[in-house]
Amino acid sequence: MKDSAQKTNLFDYTRDELTAVLAEWGYGRFHADQIWRALYQQQITALNEIPGLRADLRQQLAAETAIYSPQTAVSSQSQDGTHKYLLRLADGETIETVLMRFEGREGKKRATACVSAQVGCAMGCVFCATGQMGFTRHLSPGEIVAQVLFIQQTLAEQGDRLRNIVFMGMGEPLHNYDAVMTAVRILTDHKGLALAAKHITLSTVGVVPGIQRLTAEPIPVRLAVSLHGATDGERQALAPPARRWPLAELMAVCQAYTERKKQRIFFEWTLIEGQNDTPEQAHALGRLLTGMAAHVNLIPLNPTIGYEGQPTRRTAVYQFQTTLGQYGIPSTVRQQRGIDIAAGCGQLKTAHPSP
Ligand code: SAH
Ligand code: SF4
Repeated sequence: MKDSAQKTNLFDYTRDELTAVLAEWGYGRFHADQIWRALYQQQITALNEIPGLRADLRQQLAAETAIYSPQTAVSSQSQDGTHKYLLRLADGETIETVLMRFEGREGKKRATACVSAQVGCAMGCVFCATGQMGFTRHLSPGEIVAQVLFIQQTLAEQGDRLRNIVFMGMGEPLHNYDAVMTAVRILTDHKGLALAAKHITLSTVGVVPGIQRLTAEPIPVRLAVSLHGATDGERQALAPPARRWPLAELMAVCQAYTERKKQRIFFEWTLIEGQNDTPEQAHALGRLLTGMAAHVNLIPLNPTIGYEGQPTRRTAVYQFQTTLGQYGIPSTVRQQRGIDIAAGCGQLKTAHPSP
């Protein structure tokens, strides 16, 4: 039997991969589907609980694979109903996952999971707590999937179900492209959780090669691009990757994305008082996005320990929005969520476990 560090996490496999592994062992598709249903429809988290599984297959699975579910280390609840979970992974590293409920159409609350793609982040945006902690490692597909299963289970206990997933937790999803896309394939598999790809949003700081790869994918996930500045100099001051991928290049791949996918892009703009919230800057953004299928999400800065900036005041936020409206660009001010428990955008970070 393999020791636990060498075993494959069953949550890492797409259904096709699981089917191929079982075929190699001499088991047909029926068995793969049975395991898949147990994992994603019955949400079973132990091999010996998979109903009707052949004993020899169970034994082989136990020898080669494991089901790694993260442990909840801490859970906190905001006054606005947002929940934040600090989850401990198999190697002791920790990540944060957030559950939010937004008022949808007809007044119905829609549950949204904000998931992490990495432990920490290598991109170093100055105002972001995850960026301030630096990069530790990528998450595997299974570690991403397990966050969603965890939230789904929490909701099921309350008679609710998950609708939206946003990759806006810790890390840069397009820096961990393969694992993130494998997780998306698992989550949208029609024989499993069957989440709608159009309800999954990947948010990127502007990793150009990742946007290009996504453009070529048939799967219709949503794309959000964090901009924060409409000139190279202004972006670079806030988000270091802007040096590597200048605006002209970024906007060209965004334009290609909207045309090829026939989908608009959400542009995120963290509003920082006196830094990127003047009427001139709103005009510059309006000009930059003219002709593009775009929607702007304005996010007043959430406080983090490592950055001294202040959020833009409400009246200036609305003025910024009005200016964008003059260019015909729709925008939304992101409702602040979970600020009292540091679960807001850019507030997620975890201390390293003591050695
Ligand atoms: N790495 C991806 C996704 C995670 S961050 C990205 O950067 O897009 C999700 C969003 O939160 C991004 O738009 C990011 O710019 C924003 N954000 C980060 N720190 C923030 C803060 N302190 N206040 C408000 N928004 C913040
Ligand atoms: Fe990373 Fe996004 Fe934070 Fe920038 S804003 S440091 S890309 S998580």
